[in-house]
Amino acid sequence: VTKNLFLGMDFGTSGARYVIIDKQGIIYAEGKRDYPPCKDGNTVDWTSSWKMTLFLLLEDIPYSLRPFIVSISIDGTSATTIIVDSKTGEPLWKPFLYNESCPDALPLVKSIAPENHTVCTGSSTLCKLVSWWNSYNLSKDAATLLHQADWLLWLLHGKIGVSDYNNALKVGYDPEIESYPKWLLSQPYSIMLPSVRAPGTSIGCIVEDIRDQYGFSKDCIVCTGTTDSIAAFLAARASEPGKAVTSLGSTLAVKLLSTNRIDDARYGVYSHRLDDKWLVGGASNTGGAVLRQIFTDEELKELSGQINPMISSPLDYYPLPGVGERFPLADPKMAPRLQPRPQSDAEYLHGILESIARIEAKAYGLLKELGASEVQEVFTAGGGSKNEKWIQIRERVLGLPVSRAVQTEAAYGAALLALKGFRGSHADPVDARTVSDIEN
Ligand code: ADP
Repeated sequence: VTKNLFLGMDFGTSGARYVIIDKQGIIYAEGKRDYPPCKDGNTVDWTSSWKMTLFLLLEDIPYSLRPFIVSISIDGTSATTIIVDSKTGEPLWKPFLYNESCPDALPLVKSIAPENHTVCTGSSTLCKLVSWWNSYNLSKDAATLLHQADWLLWLLHGKIGVSDYNNALKVGYDPEIESYPKWLLSQPYSIMLPSVRAPGTSIGCIVEDIRDQYGFSKDCIVCTGTTDSIAAFLAARASEPGKAVTSLGSTLAVKLLSTNRIDDARYGVYSHRLDDKWLVGGASNTGGAVLRQIFTDEELKELSGQINPMISSPLDYYPLPGVGERFPLADPKMAPRLQPRPQSDAEYLHGILESIARIEAKAYGLLKELGASEVQEVFTAGGGSKNEKWIQIRERVLGLPVSRAVQTEAAYGAALLALKGFRGSHADPVDARTVSDIEN
């Protein structure tokens, strides 16, 4: 057997994972590490913790597979921002985490960006950059902005200042014109912006030291990554327009592959570019968090067993964990509607699951109304995806094929980007290795 293997790594909010696949997408190995607590005084030293985790994961990779790894990619949390020294790559400041807000920068950002642009929220990468630029008296002409994935990839390829257009969206990059917009380039801090490529593009070979230390293939390349939620979408392999992934976790998030881009700030709907297509997304506040307020996971399983999914529930709710909804209805004052509660808990759950399915249908309907491709098939990820009865209810309400996604790990999506990058840089596959001795 001759085989090339592709390594994807996902750096999430609490830990990191790796997955190794072949070109058919078959998994050869996978693993997980929680971030070790690295303290710097009283605060967590996140960059050290991520760096340590990266190398721990590389050590976790079975020796027998390492020589066959020809390409690596990494995804990270969106809008996690690291300002580094342009020469050494070392962080100049603690990272700004994905959910950290810099409201001090918002008025300035709003004054330069078009109205309702995705950078116009306090947690955008651009707000973080502006806040840093205005606050700290460090040598700014020698600083570069990187996203979490960019920085981790840099540790492997050694070229400072490379990003991808998914991570760069929240700093203001326009993937449609493949450039930063003029309003951003005219700002003094634009010198800090990284160069941007498509996700899954070869940046270069892995640095020799690491290659030799871990025993990767001699031509092993490192490819641009993406954000964690896009990597999770890629994992489901919904690769044609009209294919969608609904994530039923604490909230309900929909992502639809579309031939065209739509953005609507009223609903928090925006589009990421994926090569020649657009990944359109929106998130409702409904979802599993409401279920968890009412039922334990055990009860959910037990009560779901009693539901006949072919029968439509007459109960019409709008389950929310608190006041306010953004998408598919934009109403910050919307109150949860979970009454009347029937005697039977199974009937109650049926009504809630069906009501959430109607919100999901409305979500895809709204995306179409706003101009996106019509949804044709829905894959499902998240804690709610294991509920078969819910899948059947959703098939009936959506009038579409619905199934559980086979792969949902973001690391798997990152591995697919490593594969893409390898294919892009090897029109003719070179030098495939023999792996008759690979153990699964
Ligand atoms: P998070 O978004 O927090 O990562 P998960 O993807 O882990 O969420 O999913 C957790 C959610 O899944 C919980 O809110 C829980 O209510 C829901 N859940 C768990 N089991 C079931 C089930 N059998 N049916 C429907 N929902 C479920």
